[in-house]
Amino acid sequence: MLPKQTNNTLFFTGNHLSRPSIARRGKGFSRAAWNELESEVPGECSVLKIGSHVSFSEKGLLSAAQEAISYGATTFMIYTGAPQNTRRKPMEEQYVPEGLALMKEHGIDEIVVHAPYIINLASHKTDTFRLAVEFLQSEIQRTAYLGVENLVLHPGAFTEKDLYYGIRRIAEGLDEVLSAAKNVNIALETMAGKGTEIGRTFEELAAIIEKTSFNDRLRVCLDTCHVHDAGYDIVNDFDGVVEQFDRIIGLDRLTVIHINDSKNPRGARKDRHAPIGSGYIGFDAIYRIVHHEVAAGKPIILETPWIGKEEATKRPMYEAEIALLSDNADKRFGPAFREDVAKLRAFLRDVCGEEAGVGGNGREYVLAAWAVLHDKKQRSADKREPMERLYDLVIEHDLFPGYTEEQINMRLIGYFAGL
Ligand SMILES: [Zn+2]
Repeated sequence: MLPKQTNNTLFFTGNHLSRPSIARRGKGFSRAAWNELESEVPGECSVLKIGSHVSFSEKGLLSAAQEAISYGATTFMIYTGAPQNTRRKPMEEQYVPEGLALMKEHGIDEIVVHAPYIINLASHKTDTFRLAVEFLQSEIQRTAYLGVENLVLHPGAFTEKDLYYGIRRIAEGLDEVLSAAKNVNIALETMAGKGTEIGRTFEELAAIIEKTSFNDRLRVCLDTCHVHDAGYDIVNDFDGVVEQFDRIIGLDRLTVIHINDSKNPRGARKDRHAPIGSGYIGFDAIYRIVHHEVAAGKPIILETPWIGKEEATKRPMYEAEIALLSDNADKRFGPAFREDVAKLRAFLRDVCGEEAGVGGNGREYVLAAWAVLHDKKQRSADKREPMERLYDLVIEHDLFPGYTEEQINMRLIGYFAGL
């Protein structure tokens, strides 16, 4: 279903790329390394290209690759510095050859760079717009240096102006950035439509692409949480959403997929990510997307929140999410993991009773808990999210003595996955 959209007729809807231009590849510092690497990875088509956002601090690409490998990832995404600011270390200090060597060893042949959130190409303020253009130019240089092909960008927010002003302004900024020859694509991200964010509908992205003269280097990054929050029914009709994407933008533009569950119902325009299975989209819908033909061979990136009772104990769920979405949990964690999940499922059934919706993968339980949280009165009584409620039950009954918070939460992810 298409979200409500006024003035649809203003948008152009035929931005399909001519096929030859898509095969472009970065000409950066490490091009040879990438090409060599690509030819050496055996059977890459059978392996899902899945990973998460990882840190680029400390030893730059080397730490990033190490972190990704620790999650069992086959790709990853970095910000070249803090996503909230524009302070950047020179790339020469970012352990690029070391990182590439480690990636090669582990068969990681494609990664993604994400531009910082502070870039707002839709801004009507001259200084904000100039900063966005200039910073994006330097981001492209850093991306090219890494030999990375796709730089993900949030299109922008029109603030005090209007949608049409914002779209024109973004196209103006993109033209300035893309006119300088660089072999990096900019992948515009589908947005939830929070506030004055542009990119909530496929028509908005198509309009930006159509208004940008140098648009052969524009691509699109589809974020599952964002499109769900924007109103697209990816849970019940992903094929229909893909069909709309193809008709309005063109599937040849789709190059990166962000997979996140959502803390809000479809159409809420909120953009709050949840671990896979713990939100409104659910494991099954995300599994179908990950294994859909449109995702084949493309980097699939998790940006799910780290989970823990305290700030200091928060840990990423990426390793479990990647293993479960790749049907690889038994190999990754051993048979005990599956047994633990079965024990957890039986325990929840005993403690909460079947009617609480805790059987199978807990879908009914998760959705009921969110419904309570979206009710103002009920929320004030208990603000805990579904995953935390289940975690607390496990602790209360000492189901897994000696397990860390992270180990218990990973088993909850296994339970949501219906392992
Ligand atoms: Zn993003």
